[in-house]
Amino acid sequence: MIPALIVIIFIIFIALIRGLADSPELESRTYLRVPFRDKDKAKRRGAKWDPHAQQWFVPWNRDPGNFEEWIPKPLSAPKLTVELVPSTCWFSNVRSNVSVEDWRRLQQMTFRQAGDRCEICEGRGTRWPLECHEVWRYNDDTRAQVLERLIALCPWCHSVKHMGRSMIYGKEDTAFWHLSKVNRWSLEETKIYLKNQFQICEKRSAHSWKLDIRWLERHGIQVSQTDRNASTSSLVTPLNRQVPTQAKATQTE
Ligand SMILES: [Zn+2]
Repeated sequence: MIPALIVIIFIIFIALIRGLADSPELESRTYLRVPFRDKDKAKRRGAKWDPHAQQWFVPWNRDPGNFEEWIPKPLSAPKLTVELVPSTCWFSNVRSNVSVEDWRRLQQMTFRQAGDRCEICEGRGTRWPLECHEVWRYNDDTRAQVLERLIALCPWCHSVKHMGRSMIYGKEDTAFWHLSKVNRWSLEETKIYLKNQFQICEKRSAHSWKLDIRWLERHGIQVSQTDRNASTSSLVTPLNRQVPTQAKATQTE
């Protein structure tokens, strides 16, 4: 009799656990972005800790209005974006795939059209004022890597575009703070944005991409097939790296 009772209790216990796991409350849970210094305050108001998600959340029987200050707001549209190149894209550097003369011509045309200012922050570098950046669009439906245009950027905006490369050269702090400043984002918002971008890039790197460089052809630029085939790009996926937490006072090119 007693073993049968234990089995029944066990079955009920398992059913309860499953019921909780499948609970719609879990799916519609409002997670909070609580800074460490506010954790006790959030707890006092009734927030609960989800050890799996490693986040605080609003329990179903509490008013989310009491947790307004920690409910994540959607990021404002960025003026400056990071443009990470998937590791499987095999043509991502126009400069090394066209002749020196053609590159100079493209560069001068781009700078002139931009009025010799950075097209994003309107700044200019000190050692060299502007750099030419290739804008690629990635069509996730057709898996096409499309060269859209060239733009003039100051060295700081350019270091943000190539955040992976900036990390290799130890310039991630400068790039991080410039991204945050231009977009008027908080430290936390900037971190979230970067994390998302690296995740998107990691997903894209699992696929092959078709190359579309008709933009170059429209501007009369010849690209040799040999160079195309030889051109590969490297991807740094520093998701496991810490994003900087302290502002650097100076910026360097
Ligand atoms: Zn700029």
